[in-house]
Amino acid sequence: MSAIILNGKKLAEKIKNELAIKIKDLGIKPQLAVIRVGNDPASKTYIRAKATACAEVGIKLREEFLPESASFEELQQKVGGLNKNLEIDGIIIQLPLPQHVDTIKAVNLINSTKDADGLTAYNQGYLYMGYPKIIPATPLGAIKLLDEYKINLDGKQAVVIGRSNLVGRPLAALLEQRNSTVTVCHRHTINLKEITKQADIIASAAGKSNLITGDMIKPRAVVLDIGINHLDGKICGDADFETVKELAGAISPVPGGIGPLTVACLLENLLTCYQQRRLK
Ligand code: NAD
Repeated sequence: MSAIILNGKKLAEKIKNELAIKIKDLGIKPQLAVIRVGNDPASKTYIRAKATACAEVGIKLREEFLPESASFEELQQKVGGLNKNLEIDGIIIQLPLPQHVDTIKAVNLINSTKDADGLTAYNQGYLYMGYPKIIPATPLGAIKLLDEYKINLDGKQAVVIGRSNLVGRPLAALLEQRNSTVTVCHRHTINLKEITKQADIIASAAGKSNLITGDMIKPRAVVLDIGINHLDGKICGDADFETVKELAGAISPVPGGIGPLTVACLLENLLTCYQQRRLK
């Protein structure tokens, strides 16, 4: 039997429709600032997708640009200005940054109440303590997708592949907080297949096409494919969709799975930022 396809696109539309109504009721347009440093072409594409989604729900997007050669101090000045600006509700520094800029130091320039990506030490800290305030959008979207399909996480064996602060680590924390027993795998993990074969839930955020194949799956396992890769001119995830879907109980497709949910959850985070600051 073939797997249920976890339709992230449909859920993302539902989230955005609900957000549009809430934002209309506010009577003003919350504002998101996105800082781009340098000319990474993928960053430009991601910002365009965010701009389109913002427009759909009634959020203002303000794009700020610094050249590739910008120093940390210049970025600090830019973020400082946006932190102070009362009209700005959320700030994102589009990643990746040029190599000479320390990413951890950079994201921590953002005031935690405006941290729409949930990447500051403050928001990550609260998340790992089990009191999440602003959760990074991709893991938040992944959990919402599991909830939408009423996938029970309690007492399940979950395997997260990838340990970035953006995706793997926070997702592992969220699954653990839902009472799954979580194993985190990464580039140095040996015997990945032996580990995934035990898993009821597999979430892969490695960025490697065909990393997960049908023979690595326990029958009926739920597979969240978070990776975004380019193979033979097409976008694909980390899973070999055709072989995995034959064994899995459910799988999120790429495209149409976690990607649209990430954008929708980012917009939701912006509204959380707005509410934290302006309505307290
Ligand atoms: P990253 O490079 O920071 O982290 C990748 C992680 O995967 C690392 O921890 C690494 O150890 C692990 N890894 C890499 N190759 C591996 C392998 N062969 N076996 C086991 N582990 C391996 O990347 P990231 O920012 O966490 O993003 C991960 C992937 O998710 C990328 O493909 C990215 O494009 C995608 N992503 C998708 C969305 C979305 O909206 N769907 C959002 C963010 C990131």
